[in-house]
Amino acid sequence: MLKLKKVSKFYYSKGMVATGFTKISLDFKIGEFIAITGESGSGKSTLLNVISGLDSYEEGEMYINGLETSHYTEKDYEVYRKKYIGNIFQNFNLIASYTVYQNVELVLLINGYKRSEIKEKVLNIIKDVGLSKYKNTKVSKLSGGQKQRVAIARCLAKETPVIIADEPTGNLDSKSATSILKLLNEISKDKLVIVVTHNYDQVEEYVTRKITMHDGRVIEDINLKEVENNENVETAKYKETTVLNKLRLGIRNTFNIIPKFVLLLFVYMFIVFSVSGTYSSFQKGEYESSKEMYNSYFSSFNANKRILLKKQNNESFNNEDYESISKVSNIDYLLKDDLSYDRDFSVYNDFVYLYGSVSSLDLFDGNLDVGRMPEKDNEVVIYANKNDYQISNMQDEIFNNEFMFDELIDFSNNEHYKVKIVGIKYRQIGYSTNFYVSNNILDKIKNYIYTYDNETSYTYAGRTYTSNFDDYFTSLRPNYNVPKGEAFISVDKTYDCKYSKCINYDFNVISKNKYYSNSLNLKITKEYNKNNFNSLTQLNYDEYNGAVFINPEDFESLFKGENYQASVFVKDDKIVKETESQLKKLGFDTFYILDGVSEDIGTKIIRITKLIVLSILIIVLFFVSYFVIKLILKSRNVYFSTIRMLGSSSKTAKNLLDIELNMISNISYLIFIGLILLSKTNLVNFEYIRDLAEFLTIKEYIIIYVILVLMSYLTSTRYASKLFKKSAMNTIKERV
Ligand code: ADP
Ligand code: MG
Repeated sequence: MLKLKKVSKFYYSKGMVATGFTKISLDFKIGEFIAITGESGSGKSTLLNVISGLDSYEEGEMYINGLETSHYTEKDYEVYRKKYIGNIFQNFNLIASYTVYQNVELVLLINGYKRSEIKEKVLNIIKDVGLSKYKNTKVSKLSGGQKQRVAIARCLAKETPVIIADEPTGNLDSKSATSILKLLNEISKDKLVIVVTHNYDQVEEYVTRKITMHDGRVIEDINLKEVENNENVETAKYKETTVLNKLRLGIRNTFNIIPKFVLLLFVYMFIVFSVSGTYSSFQKGEYESSKEMYNSYFSSFNANKRILLKKQNNESFNNEDYESISKVSNIDYLLKDDLSYDRDFSVYNDFVYLYGSVSSLDLFDGNLDVGRMPEKDNEVVIYANKNDYQISNMQDEIFNNEFMFDELIDFSNNEHYKVKIVGIKYRQIGYSTNFYVSNNILDKIKNYIYTYDNETSYTYAGRTYTSNFDDYFTSLRPNYNVPKGEAFISVDKTYDCKYSKCINYDFNVISKNKYYSNSLNLKITKEYNKNNFNSLTQLNYDEYNGAVFINPEDFESLFKGENYQASVFVKDDKIVKETESQLKKLGFDTFYILDGVSEDIGTKIIRITKLIVLSILIIVLFFVSYFVIKLILKSRNVYFSTIRMLGSSSKTAKNLLDIELNMISNISYLIFIGLILLSKTNLVNFEYIRDLAEFLTIKEYIIIYVILVLMSYLTSTRYASKLFKKSAMNTIKERV
C-alpha cells in the first residue's frame, strides 16, 4: 500500500548539502510489522519522517494506495497524515497537563467526532492498552512505559492504517520496552507497523520483516514471516473539527494549567485597570479643571451643575412649565427665580464684611459645620471658606450681630434690610461667601434687580426723562408719605408747566426690560421745595432733593415681572447634554453655564498632551503585554505541534488559541465589572475602584472591552503566524 521508488532526501543548510538518505526503494503492505535498524545517523528517522508526511523528499516517487505524492502541498500532507499515519515518538509527545482520557480524546475531538461517540470509544481503547486504572491521571504523573501506552492508545483512536514508531522504547527500561513492543505487535494485525529500534533482540520474536540501513541506504531487507497480501486498506475517518469541539478544547486549555491561567488573568487585569485608570484620571482632571473655569456673566458657584432656561416662545414661566421641568429625571433643583444667583451682594456690620452670591435656602443641603438652620425670615446661613480670617476668628461677631444687606433698602424707613447669620458651612476652595436666604428676602432681591435692570422713563408736560435709580436728580423713588396714584416733584422741575405750576398734570411712567413693560398713570399732586421737603417726605433735603417720589406700592408694581428665566441644577453633571436635549423637547432654550466658559490655549495644550500620553500608554501596554503573553504561551508550542501532528489544521490550532485568550480577557472584564458593581454597593470599600468608575460611562466601558478583545485577537494572530510559518515537522523537531 505504501511504496517508495528511488526516493532521496537532502538537507540544505548554509550552502552545504547533507544527505538524509539516498535512492531508497521499498514496498510496504498492510499486516507487516517491520523493524528498521542501523547505527545512529544512518537515516532511519529521516526515512520515517518522509513516510509520515512530516517532511518532504527531493527525488524519486512515493505512492500511497497507488497515488503519487511528489506534488503534495503542506495542506495535502495534512490530509495525508490524518487519513493514514499514526506516530509514536521516543519522547511520547503527550499533553502533559491532560489526563490519560483527555489525551486520547484529543484526537477524536480534533477529527470531528461527536461527544456521544467519543466516550465509549476512548474508554475501550484505554482498556486495550491496560490503563483503565489511570484514565483520570495526568500523564505527567505516569511512568515512561505508561506514557508510551497512552501514545499508542492515541494512535489507535486515530484509526489510521499505518503506525510509525521512531525508537518507541528508547527512553524505557527493558521490561517496559518488551511490554510496549508486545502491545505494538498485538495491534498490528490489520495495520502496517514500522518500528525503528536500536535493540533488535527485543522485537525479534514479533517482526515479519527486518530492514537494515547504513549511511543513508538500505543494505539489508529480509522477510521473516509471510504476510498475506491485503489490498483492502481502511483509511481513518475524520471530519473538520467542529465548533463545539474547538470550544470544549479552548475552554479546557484555559483552565488546564492553573498558574498559567492566573498569570494570563493577571496580565489582562493589569491592562484593564491601567487603561481604565489612566482614562478615568484623565477625565477627572478635565472635570476638575472645568469646574474652576471662570465666566464673567454667571456665578461660578455650582456652575458645573447649572442649566439656564428660557421659554422658546419668550413667554413667562407658569406652573405647568415648572411641573414639566421638575419631571426631568436628572434635575435636582429648580430655581424659579435665578436673577440673584449671578450677582454678588455685600452683607456687613461694624466688625465683619462678607461678599458673595445669594441663593434660596431650599438649595442648601442642610449640613452645617457651626450654628443652626434659620427659623425666621431674616435669618440666613452662609457657605464660606474656613481659611478666611473673619470666618475662623470672628464667629462671636458673626453670630451675635445683625448684618446689613448693602443693596437691599426697606422703603418704609429707607434703611438697609437687616439679616442675622445663624449657621456656617465650610467650603474648601473659593473665597467668596454664599448666602442662603428665605424666599421672602429673595423676592425683595428680585425686585431690587428689576429696579436696576429696567429702563424706566417718565413723562409730564410733554417732556420725557429717563430715570436712573442711582441718579438722584432724575430718579424715581418710593416714599410712604405719597398716596397711591400720586407723584411729588421738585419745584425746580416745573418749568415746562403752565405758569410753572404742574399740579394735576398727568405723570406717566413706563418701565421695561427685555421681556416686559409696565406703565403707570399718576397725577402730580405736590411740588416740594427746601422748606416743605422734610414735612412732605420725612427725608433730608440735601440728600434726596431732585427725585420724584411716588407711593412704594406703585413703585414696586413698575418692577414686578413674571419670571422669564429660570435655572435648574442637575444631579449628575456628566449627562448634562442628555438633560439639555430633554429640556429642549419640552419647549425651553437651554444654556449650560460651563459651555459659556472659554478655554485658554494653555488648557488646550495640556489636554492634547494628556491625550497623546494616554494613546502612547495604550500602545506601550499592548507591546508589554504581548511579550509577557508570548512568554507565558511559550509552553504552548509543544501543544500546538502535537495537535498538528495528530491532524489538526493550523486554522483549528489558531482558533483554540483565540478561544483561550478570549476567555481570559472576558473573565478579566467580568471581574472588572464585578468589582465596580461591588464598589457601588458599599458592601466593600474599594475607594480606588469607585473613583475610577465615577468617570467611566457606557461609551468607555465599550471602548475598554473592544481594546481587550482586540488585544487578545492581535496577540493570538501574531503568535500563531510566527508559530505556524514552520512546517509541522520543524515545530516538532525544534523542541526534540
Ligand atoms: P538516524 O535517525 O538513523 O540516527 P537521521 O535520519 O536522524 O539518522 O539522520 C540522517 C542524516 O541526515 C544524518 O547525517 C544527519 O546529520 C542528517 N540530518 C538529519 N536531520 C537533518 C537536518 N535537519 N539538517 C541537516 N541534516 C540533517
Ligand atoms: Mg533517529
